[in-house]
Amino acid sequence: MYRVKHDGRNGFCFFTSEMQAHSARTLQLGNALRHALTRGQLHLHYQPQISTQDGHVVGAEALLRWQHPELGSISPAEFIPIAEDNGQIIPIGEWVLRTAIKQLKDWMDSGLPPMIMAVNLSAAQFRQSNLMELVTSILDESKVPHRYLELELTEAVAMDDPQLAIGVMDKLHTGGIKMSIDDFGTGYSSLSYLKRFKVYKLKIDQSFVHDITDDPDDKAIVAAIINMASSLGMQTIAEGVETAGQLSFLRLQGCNEVQGYYFSKPLPAEQFVSYLQKQGQ
Ligand code: C2E
Ligand code: MG
Ligand code: MG
Ligand code: MG
Repeated sequence: MYRVKHDGRNGFCFFTSEMQAHSARTLQLGNALRHALTRGQLHLHYQPQISTQDGHVVGAEALLRWQHPELGSISPAEFIPIAEDNGQIIPIGEWVLRTAIKQLKDWMDSGLPPMIMAVNLSAAQFRQSNLMELVTSILDESKVPHRYLELELTEAVAMDDPQLAIGVMDKLHTGGIKMSIDDFGTGYSSLSYLKRFKVYKLKIDQSFVHDITDDPDDKAIVAAIINMASSLGMQTIAEGVETAGQLSFLRLQGCNEVQGYYFSKPLPAEQFVSYLQKQGQ
């Protein structure tokens, strides 16, 4: 057994064989990630975001996919934290932004109705001092109006350094770029900070949506989030909507948008267009 530094801050823990296997996989993925972009193994899928008012698709969330020739398809929940640790998230995140914005431009040029493209932002990207310049230069090069981009930041990242978050959000807001708070409800929001965040939309985490038709606590939490957002002048979208029952509860509560398998899984770009066409959009 080795004694290794565990969390980089304090404390030590013992290295077990399970941890050894885990770190071997982490190392393997970390190395493979260095080539993932140049070898064309990364792709984006797009998940429709639907208005509860009229059922129209009003946005798309870009979600990263990694298809490795030997390791198969690897979940972003597994590889994004690794990319975050080894710095690869910076070039990968920039590629995601460029690809999603270019896709939106292509859709608009082909006559699809304008919609919002939502792109997930990592903690490391959020802390980059040139984020605003990067985002605006990509939008301006593609000639996409700033108001069509929404950047999603998780509540946990925003609350990790609220002062920084306030500054970055102010800057993006001034530049006409929308911000939303992802996985809302899981990250210990301080309400006094939340009201200072220039946030346009709260994304209600799917863990609250899952049992919304049965669990009175989840019903109460979701209703409270929707009411609070509305009082603060923010929109709401519920993630992970899988059933008609969940949808009707959310609509009744005044949730603005919904996203989830009930409507569609995240789709490759061509299938996203077919989905829109099937909806008559
Ligand atoms: P997220 O941003 O909260 O994305 C929502 C996740 O829920 C996605 O998982 C989506 O496929 C999944 N989902 C959507 N509808 C349903 C549903 O009805 N039921 C269930 N059970 N799941 C649903 P995915 O694509 O595996 O992404 C996982 C996480 O990885 C994302 O969570 C996000 O935090 C991160 N991620 C994905 N793409 C990117 C990216 O380009 N950049 C960064 N920084 N993070 C990303
Ligand atoms: Mg997201
Ligand atoms: Mg989420
Ligand atoms: Mg998440």
